[in-house]
Amino acid sequence: MRNFKRILYETVEPGIVKVTMNRPEKRNAEDPLMLEEMQEAFIEADIDDDVRVIIYAGAGKDFSAGHDMSGQGEDAPDGTIMRRYMDSKMTGVEKTLRREDYQYYNQALYMRNVSKPTIAMVQGNCLAGGLMNASMCDLVVASDDAKFGDPVVRMTPAGVEVLFHPFDFGFRKAKEMLWTGDPLTAQEAFNVGFVCKIVSREKLEEETMNLARRIAMNMPVAVSLTKRAINFAAEASGQKLAWDYHLLIHQLSHASDEAKRWREERAKALDKGGVKEMLKARDGKFK
Ligand code: ZN
Repeated sequence: MRNFKRILYETVEPGIVKVTMNRPEKRNAEDPLMLEEMQEAFIEADIDDDVRVIIYAGAGKDFSAGHDMSGQGEDAPDGTIMRRYMDSKMTGVEKTLRREDYQYYNQALYMRNVSKPTIAMVQGNCLAGGLMNASMCDLVVASDDAKFGDPVVRMTPAGVEVLFHPFDFGFRKAKEMLWTGDPLTAQEAFNVGFVCKIVSREKLEEETMNLARRIAMNMPVAVSLTKRAINFAAEASGQKLAWDYHLLIHQLSHASDEAKRWREERAKALDKGGVKEMLKARDGKFK
């Protein structure tokens, strides 16, 4: 196992591993290094015979603000796949597709497809790419102050790389979420079946552990095969095809002239008046 810089990997007690995004000062924004480390941590937990349940958490006040928009891999260290990708000669939407396919989509699929049960433990904001990764987990436990949102409608990506929303929130709710950018409360996310348990912030850790222990008591092969069968049911309903299709639709939003012009407007606003002005442009009436 590599020496992780962005995450913590802990065996909390025999059979239960916790993978924690550990950048609280950046609200656990997921940069390329964090995403690679998360993938490696999930592989590690999956191949370790002693692990029965994986908990996925975020350190600090918020679960995650989503993919880190301040860097797209420029600082990826030598030896990472991301570094080699950044140094490739590819340009334009081909490069974006290849990067997102590798860095976001496949990483998310890996989290979803590990053979062991996974539980996302969510507090505070759980946004965009952070919500995408939480949605890859089998179960979600939330504190009562949790907020689940994908506010990317003004950032042009037509949702993040995996369009989990219709499957996780229902088709109409998915449109409402993605068209307004407004988050769901923990209670609303519970009502649509995304969250399986709401607890106070103080009890979040304890209640998540209780659920993990309850699952870890059972025969690992029974738990694992049940997961495989239920995930297959989702795929038989077209989930994976819809996700593959969306990854391409998402690239159209990167390549669109209107979207490019909008990105330039926001960059101008940022130059002119900093983040405050940029947010004003982003959140105001679209011109
Ligand atoms: Zn994108």
